[in-house]
Amino acid sequence: MIVIIKRGTPQKEIDDLTNQLTAKGVEVNPVVGKDLIILGLVGDTSKIDDSWIEANRNVERVMHVAEPFKKANRMFHPAPTVVEVGENRIGGKKLAMIAGPCSVESEQQICGVAEEVKRIGANFLRGGAFKPRTSPYAFQGLKYDGLELLKEARAATGLPIVTEIMSPYDIEIFERDVDIIQVGARNMQNFELLKELGRTRKPILLKRGLSATIEEWLMSAEYIMSGGNESIILCERGIRTFETYTRNTLDLSAIPAIKKLSHLPIVVDPSHATGKWWMVDPLAKAAVAVGADGLIIEVHNDPANALCDGQQSIKPSVYGELVEELRPIAAAVGREL
Ligand code: PEP
Ligand code: MN
Repeated sequence: MIVIIKRGTPQKEIDDLTNQLTAKGVEVNPVVGKDLIILGLVGDTSKIDDSWIEANRNVERVMHVAEPFKKANRMFHPAPTVVEVGENRIGGKKLAMIAGPCSVESEQQICGVAEEVKRIGANFLRGGAFKPRTSPYAFQGLKYDGLELLKEARAATGLPIVTEIMSPYDIEIFERDVDIIQVGARNMQNFELLKELGRTRKPILLKRGLSATIEEWLMSAEYIMSGGNESIILCERGIRTFETYTRNTLDLSAIPAIKKLSHLPIVVDPSHATGKWWMVDPLAKAAVAVGADGLIIEVHNDPANALCDGQQSIKPSVYGELVEELRPIAAAVGREL
């Protein structure tokens, strides 16, 4: 952090500010020029509030030279994080292939889809039990019964389960029953939920908020990590832009950006990013080509009659073709399925 001092500030007042800053645990290095005095702050500035420094009448401006996220920052953790989920890993050479319906609808549906995606090569099963729907009149999910059905599908296939949490009240049950806890786009900045998830040791799939910048998203990861849970998988699922043709706009540039800024693995959700089943294939391929660590894709046995997101769900047969076509793309970028 750099603090620019106003011209003509008496030395005594610069010394007072220097002492106040030192008391916050940072090292203060003054640079005295003919026209300007600059204080260079070195150390952990994450707990120093800019507005507190800017409130000092002798301060002209405060500038940041490092990002506000620390634990999620690649600068302080150069090696990529590989999140372990039982026998599986997310962030290594092998791509995480997460597939399943938007929502758990019945035993037959979730177990049937689980068997099919497992046979095709998926290594995780997704399925919403608690659904964050825009309309209160829309299907809200089977809730706790849905979790039980997911557990049945896991028992039948061995696939670890990924499902969304909506409330901090459910943490205990999710911690016990779920393999990866998903934080949906709408809850990316539910800071109380993030803090509670920081206390668990379960892997968290943190989706990017509808209009969140990359920095805001990484600050949400920082909330969880600052509580001690460093097993985070980021998920790019498209952002709101002026374009209405697609449900969201898939920000493919977020993948190399995250790889540069952070050590955390990142997967891509082309289903919610586009809202169109026929766009899932090309964008899944693009995501792998630009370095995603995996894909989370909505697969449904009967998309036309799905209770949620049928328009963006692909059938198992389409998923099977995609997985085969992804193999050479993954190999070209040093990954495997
Ligand atoms: C989902 O994955 O089911 C979901 C609701 O996604 P998002 O939070 O990205 O909208
Ligand atoms: Mn969905």
